[in-house]
Amino acid sequence: MKGVLWLKKLLFFFAFLLTLSPLQNVRASEADTYKERMNLYHKMEAASQIPWYIFAGIDQYELNVRRTRNDLPHEKGHIGIYFSPRQWVGPLNPDLNDTNSLTINTFGGIGRDGNGDGKADRENDEDILYTFAHHLEQYGTKMEDLKIGLWDYYHRDQAVSIIMNNAKIYKHFGKLALTERAFPVALKANYSYRNTWGDRRGWGGLRIHEGTDIFANHGVSVKATTYGVVEMKGWNRYGGWRIGIRDLNNVYHYFAHLNGFEKNIAKGTIVKPGDVIGYVGSSGYGPPGTSGKFPPHLHYGMYRDNGYKEWSFDPYPSLRAWEREEKQRLRKK
Ligand SMILES: [Zn+2]
Repeated sequence: MKGVLWLKKLLFFFAFLLTLSPLQNVRASEADTYKERMNLYHKMEAASQIPWYIFAGIDQYELNVRRTRNDLPHEKGHIGIYFSPRQWVGPLNPDLNDTNSLTINTFGGIGRDGNGDGKADRENDEDILYTFAHHLEQYGTKMEDLKIGLWDYYHRDQAVSIIMNNAKIYKHFGKLALTERAFPVALKANYSYRNTWGDRRGWGGLRIHEGTDIFANHGVSVKATTYGVVEMKGWNRYGGWRIGIRDLNNVYHYFAHLNGFEKNIAKGTIVKPGDVIGYVGSSGYGPPGTSGKFPPHLHYGMYRDNGYKEWSFDPYPSLRAWEREEKQRLRKK
């Protein structure tokens, strides 16, 4: 028996080592990736007069599209922007692997040589960024021109607004590593929540519950959970006074049944985790101003975007993780 116990201890020790080192490596390589990307964006800004944060916004949008779709390959380098082989070489080009700028150009392909090695390589970071810059430059480099260039590329308003939001956030904070998160109510507030994903709702016909309800007292501060842009603010007969914030991962965070909004919070405001955006209430289930039809709580919803459509997913695991992280941060202080 003693031998078994000893073996168990040894196994635990190795398991501990295993969990420790790769995590640190992941963090180190994440930081490297941000550094590499930033270098590439700045390089392209110098070459094209298009601001680095526009490249960052596009790249982040495309990275997220890649992560949520399984028909696109994982990026080879640091840049997430994806061009299909056909798009790169041109619709009638007989060579799908063509890297010759001249023939690609002749066949109407988008691919360009950005690093001057004489090849337009669909998997080279500089060639990819330069190709996108070249597309945009044709429209001009002012914000309005860039928006038109983006629309002409994606043919989707949502894509343009997500990219411009990303760009705005990157410009504001001046860095790419914006990964901190916060729990939406203060940990010292009196609150409770459980997993109610998919529960039937009582009001407004047959709808399933797309979120987590965090019960707290009237007037408790509600905080932004991520870096993001306020995309929506106002009344809805189900959600009452509510705010929607889009983060850099194309995730839309929905805060409903508020008692009121924090002043200075408006559509387009850039927020960071922990910024107060409003207050817990019981608004909703009727015309503007309706309140008190249920106990005060924050309804928290999360929606994802994959470049085509938006769908809701269960916020409960994220909330638990943010709560845990915040507890750890507080303990360290
Ligand atoms: Zn709810």
